[in-house]
Parts: sequence; structure tokens; C-alpha cells
Amino acid sequence: MAKADTPMMVQYHEIKKQYPDAFVFYRLGDFYELFEDDAVLGAKILELTLTARNKNSDNPVPMAGIPHHAARNYIDILVDQGYKVAIVEQMEDPATAKGMVKRDVVQLITPGTKMTDGIGGERENNYLAAVIPSDKTFSLAYIDLSTGELKTTNIARLPEVLDELDSLEVKEVVLLKDNGIEPQIQLIDKIGKRGIVVSYTVQQSPSATISFLTQSLLDTDQKSVTELLLNYIFDTQRRSLDHIVPATSYARLSFLKFDHNTRVNLDLVENSRTKKKAGSLLGLIDATKTAMGGRLLKQWLLKPLRDHHDITQRLDTIAAFQEQFFTRGALQDHLKSVYDLERLAARAAMGTMNARELIQLKRSLSAVPGIKSTLSELPHENVLHQIADELDTMLDLSGLIEEAIVDDPPVSVREGDIIRDGFDEKIDTYRQVLHDNQQWLGELESKERIATGINSLKIGYNKNFGYFIEVTKSNIAKLEEGRYERRQTLTNAERFVTPELKEHERLIIEAQAKRTEREYELFVTIRERVKTNITRLQKLAGQIARLDVLASLADIADNQHFVRPTFVTNDDTVRIEKGRHPVVEALLPNGDFVANDVYLDKQTTIQLITGPNMAGKSTYMRELALIVILAQMGSFVPADKAELPIFDQIFTRIGASDDLATGQSTFMVEMAEANYALQEATHHSLILFDELGRGTATYDGMALAQAIIEYLDQHVHAKTLFSTHYHELTVLAHQYPNIENVHVGAAEDENGELHFLHQIQAGPADKSYGIHVAALAGLPDGLIQNAEHILSRLEHQQPIDLDMQNNVSKPDANEMSDQTALFVVKDIDQSTQAILDQLAKIDINNLTPIQALNQLAELKQME
Ligand code: ADP
Repeated sequence: MAKADTPMMVQYHEIKKQYPDAFVFYRLGDFYELFEDDAVLGAKILELTLTARNKNSDNPVPMAGIPHHAARNYIDILVDQGYKVAIVEQMEDPATAKGMVKRDVVQLITPGTKMTDGIGGERENNYLAAVIPSDKTFSLAYIDLSTGELKTTNIARLPEVLDELDSLEVKEVVLLKDNGIEPQIQLIDKIGKRGIVVSYTVQQSPSATISFLTQSLLDTDQKSVTELLLNYIFDTQRRSLDHIVPATSYARLSFLKFDHNTRVNLDLVENSRTKKKAGSLLGLIDATKTAMGGRLLKQWLLKPLRDHHDITQRLDTIAAFQEQFFTRGALQDHLKSVYDLERLAARAAMGTMNARELIQLKRSLSAVPGIKSTLSELPHENVLHQIADELDTMLDLSGLIEEAIVDDPPVSVREGDIIRDGFDEKIDTYRQVLHDNQQWLGELESKERIATGINSLKIGYNKNFGYFIEVTKSNIAKLEEGRYERRQTLTNAERFVTPELKEHERLIIEAQAKRTEREYELFVTIRERVKTNITRLQKLAGQIARLDVLASLADIADNQHFVRPTFVTNDDTVRIEKGRHPVVEALLPNGDFVANDVYLDKQTTIQLITGPNMAGKSTYMRELALIVILAQMGSFVPADKAELPIFDQIFTRIGASDDLATGQSTFMVEMAEANYALQEATHHSLILFDELGRGTATYDGMALAQAIIEYLDQHVHAKTLFSTHYHELTVLAHQYPNIENVHVGAAEDENGELHFLHQIQAGPADKSYGIHVAALAGLPDGLIQNAEHILSRLEHQQPIDLDMQNNVSKPDANEMSDQTALFVVKDIDQSTQAILDQLAKIDINNLTPIQALNQLAELKQME
């Protein structure tokens, strides 16, 4: 095969060898060509026609072509499916090149380095990360190439590293080669498919750019991992990346921490069922007007703060916006005309910005003076006025673009029609030449018609032959001998040129070439000017994004009736009056949501929540977590009043209803999650445990639940909401002063039908409503009656001590007796024991009504 390779295929193979795992887009004239395996697979994925080079030779090369102007869509499709694409360009002009045109990879596009722009994705960041294990910790750095954001941190353990990567939705992670040392092996293993293992060693002397970007980092591990990430970027991107913002270090400690499960359980940024933003907290609170604002809001939501002062600053601004309704409206009107400044700045830096984007930049910048003056009208002491003072209107740049670039330029930057008349003398001169010559051409037709007497004579233009005089065959004889030179013969006509026409054509072509060249030159100069202003632009983008988010949160506060939370930093009290779950509330008809108070005083650390299924227990628990997150991200909250401590972490174990179906493995996950909370939580944390222990047999589950509650009470002291259907556990509140019972009320009407009140009330639920719920679910009447019969018999049995082997003193038998002690039975005879054993084996979660009936029939026979 190699023997028959043409020089071009030799060049192709050399490049492909360096990028074996990427689709190589090989530039050939107006096309990018895929060859060999890339062509076969690419044709399938991209629905291209598969052809072959050297079709008739012994070894035709499979080939598929993509027009270069449409390449972006095709690249996006491949990268979205997880593939990499290496763009190979011609490095010299084919017209002047001697021999084979030099080609090279100019860019490697991968899922982590893709520039999302245009459709979708603009409200999402696209992060690429790098992780290095060091002695005791891991260092992580991440970058969004499309905005230039670059951050780094140290993280103690691998699961937390994975959490951080998940929470940032990192697409790819740059890792060092396996060096046989345990943390590195584990890291590569856990990162799995997202990992890009590179063979760099940490460099002794990084390039000047990299040194500049990492100069403010004090921690050497953070510096190393940022250098690794930047090395990879510069290696694969090979273009100017002046928009990358010098790295900053962040501490996860300064944020309210929660893991990926919690984010999913609480439907923070997407609805866990539909995987869409609608139906999530973010979907509900996002009224931002700009893409930058949208991205920042999501960042804030996923990283709520812990610093009281920072939170207060955000709340103050929202309060100011609330008071200034009209100012807010005016600001938001201005924001609507602001494009994605961060990404525009990035495109300028990378040299991919076209003239249309320059106009977008100008329009965006033109909104800033309006924003500034709107806010400046407020009194000096108003925070909004102070923010306005810091806004840089960048009139120099918007003025330059306004002066230089036409209002509606073409996408192509090489074909002229970009620069305004009057901006550049040379361009004006070329345009004048063009104009004069076009005018001359216009007049030529009538002149020639008169001279020849041929009325049908036409002047035309064609890409291959240029300008011509067209005469039908029947009229040829009328032409003056020797004056007309034949250019092209058609069926019915001949096309001619004259020396005069040729001269004017030459002038036109020359003026056109000079004009487009000069226009391009000026366009690039202006783009460079944008590039030199990148730091200013990025700062402005940040300020505008922040204003957008805070104005949006003020909108939400108004529309959804949120209030400003207050923080009690020296007292662990949660005091929420009429709190609401904003997402559930939004789904219900107006006024149907039942607001609930949450009150946990300094002493109360654990609330045990009982009540029937579907009563609203998990809604109440989630509501508290959402209020805490909103408050600490600096937003108002859905309540009439909210007084909160500042939490450090949130842990949740909330089973999805479909968890029940998956049985044992879910129980393992449940216990692992519970363990994570028990190990990590501090007395400043919030824990939500929903129906913990449900995934195993009753005795097991109840014993574990009780032991976990006792452990929380004795060792953890985190504020904990613990919902349970084990009524037996409610006795714990009598024993431990820090545990309190609440229940979700339900009322039976005169027909014995159950109504959920969704109201949290003090004390334990007085009765298990399971059988009512079963009746509501439509189980057969006979079965329900039978179950009631069994229940009443069980309730009348004698309770005994339940020795659960825990390290806490046992519940007092007298206290136990007034509980509905379902399974606490003494002196049982053999047949009763057999029934109990059989009962314990029943897995209610996996029982169909028919199976339940059969089981009951069996039990009856055992009497
Ligand atoms: P549980 O955890 O007790 O099984 P959920 O919290 O899942 O119950 O609530 C079940 C349904 O009840 C919710 O989907 C919602 O429609 C409704 N609900 C819950 N809490 C309230 C409330 N406070 N006001 C109105 N409806 C509610």
C-alpha cells in the first residue's frame, strides 16, 4: 500500500499518525476530505457520500468530502458524539507553493475544547479539566475555552474530585500517564472514558504565556496542574488564546458543598425525571436576559456561598432592584441587546471573529452607556449607583467599530463589503474606480448597439470568461471586422471582447482585488484592537452578567413572592415561616400549595417526620434544602420569613420511587450515601434522610434507621430531617432531647376516605394510613378488610423489649406500649412465630395485588 501512495497520501498518513484517535479533516481546495477509515465511519455518521480516490487503481482510497464553509456543523455533530476532530489546513498558498503544499494540524477539537456558539449551549459553560494527585490531596484545574475562565483548587479525596468534575459537567479530563503509583492508577480508572492521558512531565520551565497565566498561584500543586492543562490546550489549539484569564485559586471551603446526588435529588439544574431545565430550580429562577447571566446564575446555584458578607452584598443589590422597579425594567431592556460578550471576546482573541460579530460587539457595547446612566440616576448611596460608577462604557471601541464597519456586513471576511465609505481613503478610491468602470460598462451596451445596429446585443459577465459582448449568430455579419475578439461560442450566440472592454475589465479586477485586500487588512486591525481590549471586555462582561443575575433574582422575588432571608451566625436556629417548595408550588394550581413552617431551635437537631405516603414529607424536606441553597447563593427565598444559620454542607438520601424496584443494589447505594453523610457532616451541616432503611427487610431497616438516628444525635449534631414510615422510631423523641417528632397531617372524612393536608404538625403521626393509601390505590375490598383485620390483631398483641443491640439505653417498656408497636411481641407461640417469619419475608415493594392476596390466603391457613 505504502508503495502506491501518492505524495499527498504520504503527507496525509504522516499527519494521521500523530492523531490516530481523531477524524482528520484534510483541507483540499474548498473541501475538507476524510480518507480511509475516517471516510467510511464519517460517511456513516454524517450521512456523506462515500467515494474513492484513484477509483480505478488497484487500491482505491475511500474518501468523503465536506465543503469547508459547512464544516462547523459536521464538526459539531462528531464532537457532540464524543469524537475528536483534527483540522488540517494548507499552510501556504497552493498557487505559489513549490511541489506538495505544506499542510499541518491547526486545531484539535474535542468535547472539552469545543466552542459552543450559536444554537443552544450558550447558557452552558463547557469545561475541560486536569487533575494531578499529589502527596495527600488532588489538585484540579479547569478552563472554559469559550470564555477564558481558568480556576484551580486542591481537593482532599478522589470521590470529591469526581463530584467537582460532575458538578462542573466537565467533558474531558487531562491526566498524567500511569506512573504505577496508586492514586494515579485509581484516578485514571475512575475518570474512565472522560480521561485524556498525556505523556507530558510537569515542565521545569513553562512558556512565558503559561508563566504569566499561573503567576498568581501560590500553591505549587495548583500551579503544576494548571500548567498541565494549559500545556495541553496550547498543544492542541495552536492559535492565539489571549482571552484566557490568569488562573485564580478557589477553596471549596468557601462554598456550601453538596454532592452530585444531592444536586440530582433536589432537581437543582435539571429535572431528574425529564433531564430538562424546565421543572428544575434553575428553570424556575432563571429570568436572565443574557447568555452570560444565564451561565453565572447556574454557577451561583451550584456554588452557594458561606461568607456572610458576600451573601449580604448580593442580597443588598436584589433589595435595591426590588425597590427600583422602573430602573430594573429599563436596565433589562438594555440587557436584551447585549450579546455574549465573553464569547465574543474569546473569538476576537482566537482570530475567529467575523464582521457580523464585530457588529454584535458594537451593539452590546452601545447598551452600556444606557445601563450606566439608568443606574446613575439613583442616589449616590444606592448600591446600584456604586455599581454603575465602575462600569467602563468602552466608547473608544464601540466608536471605532461604528465608524469602520457597515451595519450589515457579510459573514465572509475576505470578500469585502465590510468597511464603511469614508473610513479609509484607499478603499474610497478603489470604490470610485469600480463605480466609474461599472458605469462605463453600463453605457457600453447602448454605445455598441448604436455602433453595430444590433438591438439584441448584450453586455454580460461570466465567472470564467469575464465581461463580454454577446451577439446572436444571425447578427455576426454586422460586426466590424477586426474590432471584436471571439471569447466563447454558444449554440445561438457568440461572445466577444474588445481591447477597450479588456482594459476596463482589468481595472475592475485590479480595483476589486485591492479593495478586498485592504478591507480585510483593516478588518483584522480592528479585530486586533478588540483583542488588545480583552481584559476590559471580560471585566465588563462579568459586571453585566452579575447585574443581569441580580435583576433576574429580583424579578423572581417579586413574581414568586420570595423574601429576604436573614442569617443568625451565632445561633443554630432555623426559623422559616410559611416556607414553600417553589418548583412543586409552580406545578400546582394557584393557591393549592400548603406552606409549612420549619422550626428547629438550637437544641433540636433531628426532626423525625412521619405520615402517610404521598402526604408531602419529602416535599417538606426538599423545601428546606432549596431555601438554604437559595439563601446562600444570595437570593431571596420562598417563605414569609426565613432565619437561617449558614450551613457548610448539605447531604441527601432521597429515594426515587423507582428505586424501590431495583432492590438490593439500591440498598447498598442507600447505605453508602448514608455513610458518606455520617462521615462528612459537621454540626453546621444539613442532612435529609428520606425513608432510610426502606430498601431492606423491616427489622433490619428499622434497626439501622434507629442506630443511624442515634449516631447522628450523639456524634454528628447536624440539622437533620429524617422521614420514616417506622412509627416505632417516634419513641426516640421521648428519650433524646434533641430529637423532635413532626408529622404530615391527613384527615379522614365521614366516609372513611383519606385527605392529605400537606401540613406539618407537631408530634408523631397517630396512625399508620398505609391501608387507606392501599385502598385509594384501588386494591380489592376483600384484601383491604383482611389487612385491617390483621392490623387490629397485631395491634392488640403484647409488646416486648426490642433488644436492638445498640449502645443506647433501651426504650422504656411503658413508653413503648402507647406506640403502635407492630412487631414487638412477647411469649409468642410457634404458629404465631411462623406467621411473623412469613410476614417478615414479604417484600411489599415488589408485590402485585394478586400476589398479596395469595400471601394473605397462605397466612390465614397458617393460623
Ligand atoms: P411523601 O414524601 O410523603 O411520600 P411527597 O412529598 O412526595 O410525599 O408529596 C407527594 C405529592 O403531594 C407531591 O408531588 C405534591 O403534588 C403534593 N404535595 C406535597 N407537599 C405539598 C404541599 N405542601 N402542598 C400541596 N401539595 C403538596
